[in-house]
Amino acid sequence: MSESAGGNLDHVLTESRLFPPPAEFTDQAVIKSQAQYEALYEAAKNDPEGFWGAEAKEHLHWFEPFTKVLNWNSPNVEWFVGGKTNACYNCVDRHVAAGRGDKAALIWEGEPGDTRTLTFADLQKEVSKFAAGLQSIGVQQGDVVSIYMPMTPELVIAMLGCARIGAVHSVVFAGFSAEAIADRNNDAKAKVVLTANGLYRRGKVLPLKETVDEALAKSPTIEKCVVLQRIEDQETPMVEGRDIWWHDLVADQPEDFPAVPLDSEASLFILYTSGSTGKPKGIRHTTAGYNLWAKRTFEWVFDHRDNDVYWCTADCGWITGHSYLVYGPLAAGATCMMYEGAPNHPAEDRFWDLIEKYKVTILYTAPTAIRAFIKWGDDHVDKHDLSSLRLLGSVGEGINPEAWMWYHEKIGGKRCPIVDTWWQTETGGIMMSPLPGVTATKPGSCTRPLPGVVPVVVDEAGTELDVDQGGMLCIAQPWPGMLRGIWGDEERYVEQYWSKFPDKYLTGDNARRDPDGYYWIMGRIDDVINVSGHRLSTIEVESALVSHPAVAEAAVVGRPDEIKGQGIAAFVTLKSGEPTDELRKELRLHVRKEIGALAQPDEIRFAAAVPKTRSGKIMRRLLRDIAAGKETAGDTSTLEDYAVIAKLRENDES
Ligand code: ATP
Ligand code: MG
Repeated sequence: MSESAGGNLDHVLTESRLFPPPAEFTDQAVIKSQAQYEALYEAAKNDPEGFWGAEAKEHLHWFEPFTKVLNWNSPNVEWFVGGKTNACYNCVDRHVAAGRGDKAALIWEGEPGDTRTLTFADLQKEVSKFAAGLQSIGVQQGDVVSIYMPMTPELVIAMLGCARIGAVHSVVFAGFSAEAIADRNNDAKAKVVLTANGLYRRGKVLPLKETVDEALAKSPTIEKCVVLQRIEDQETPMVEGRDIWWHDLVADQPEDFPAVPLDSEASLFILYTSGSTGKPKGIRHTTAGYNLWAKRTFEWVFDHRDNDVYWCTADCGWITGHSYLVYGPLAAGATCMMYEGAPNHPAEDRFWDLIEKYKVTILYTAPTAIRAFIKWGDDHVDKHDLSSLRLLGSVGEGINPEAWMWYHEKIGGKRCPIVDTWWQTETGGIMMSPLPGVTATKPGSCTRPLPGVVPVVVDEAGTELDVDQGGMLCIAQPWPGMLRGIWGDEERYVEQYWSKFPDKYLTGDNARRDPDGYYWIMGRIDDVINVSGHRLSTIEVESALVSHPAVAEAAVVGRPDEIKGQGIAAFVTLKSGEPTDELRKELRLHVRKEIGALAQPDEIRFAAAVPKTRSGKIMRRLLRDIAAGKETAGDTSTLEDYAVIAKLRENDES
């Protein structure tokens, strides 16, 4: 942990705007009143076993009932002990069995414009064939299968196909390097890898199979490689005896291959974190608790109704794609949109085009995308009819209040509630979020905890802090979707999450609770800036910068300062206009005016881009090195574009 850990955080940003849910929304909402929310919340908090036992019985299919709801022996947890279920069955077969087989499960569009729709019945046939195919090449329960695939329906079929036979999937984002794939294959001891012969990205074909071949030269545990033919007429290297075409694998397989009953605590998947704060951790999630958490949080937060067309823009390479493109919405029987390509191909209005074309009702995306849309300009949005939308979501980073306002006005037409959802790979699903029919929202706040989530904000000693004091965000009670460990590294699991406070899950984020009981995430514990003994959160200074009309994106970090301990260095990308000294001065004054002299950046660097993870999160730890004039240290395997770092070093103009 950095030298800035410890003590409480000063809170300097205030936000007084309040947006109650529209009455028409509330009238039809799944959860309609504060009283209803509070009743659920209290029940889950005071009697977790009673509450979650009943939820699990109602919302999952059980081949064999569980005998005990919860075994909690911190940090080890088991939910729904003794029960047997199957996540693929819950997401697919359950709906077919209930007569909903004809409903669209996936509506997919490829980047070139090709489209496919799969009903739940179609999905059942496809996952059956694929699961049987996997078994035919020797994949057994507990084996790890690496998935390095484009955002096609087969990626979802691959995940669900693994779940159907109890194989543990490990999805690796299809933009990672051969090195990163090999690392993950080896860390997880994967037996099989699933890939494609290419994907479309900004009009070009990226040849995935060549990258996988390079990775497989360094992945001794991999025995077989299954290759989807995404691109026709593409020369694809195939290794005799090891590589198999997807279409050959499934050709003679049965369409009614049954889902295997699995222990509640059987591993469902491993997923590596984004690597924003350090080397990615292989987070392990299990079957029943995770599936239930994904389903119920989806239904509550996205207010799911039967006729929704729901679109989560996240890639399946991230936890958001796992929980809110696959396991949550499909378990809830939702119709999910899925898109393969870039948001700016063939033009910057592709998302709005898709929303108009498919009459999308719910959009779930990330602040990094929203900031890009703002930068690209309103013209792209104005060309399209977005009136089908009724609800918007945000995830991945804090959303700056000004970006929130743009999302609300421009995309939501001022009528759609926004759910700013705070959670992590480790938490399995959403932990804090507005309930769209109930919660009056404040731009920049993830508002209140969901039923089952008991957050506490504490100081170094673990003492709970008062309202409006910033400190470390912990979760005080186990919840069904929580991680079960770090794959193959029990020590790191305990060290990372349970060593500081043995009875509380340490999230690694800072937060404060305001007098209305709303939570405000204040950035990472490691990113706190300590100016003359005042501990400041990155996000508040960044939000102050973003509230200036010229600024598109801002990242701030501490840098060594002989007098103050730390000074503030800000990296700023502009919407338009020139990076002048004048503007630099203006921005410093702007921050001073918005949140005070203490938070005024000592240094502002204009940048064409700031370093981000492949999932689009700002990597402040790399900026810290640059601001301090040091070499880049630490893990850069999840960095989106190394050139950004080189460029920032060149641009040292202050
Ligand atoms: P690593 O753990 O490897 O450093 P990471 O924390 O970025 O990477 P993820 O699990 O993808 O990996 O991201 C979770 C983190 O993202 C949270 O801990 C939080 O810092 C941030 N985050 C996610 N959603 C929100 C949100 N709505 N508001 C503020 N921060 C958010
Ligand atoms: Mg993290």
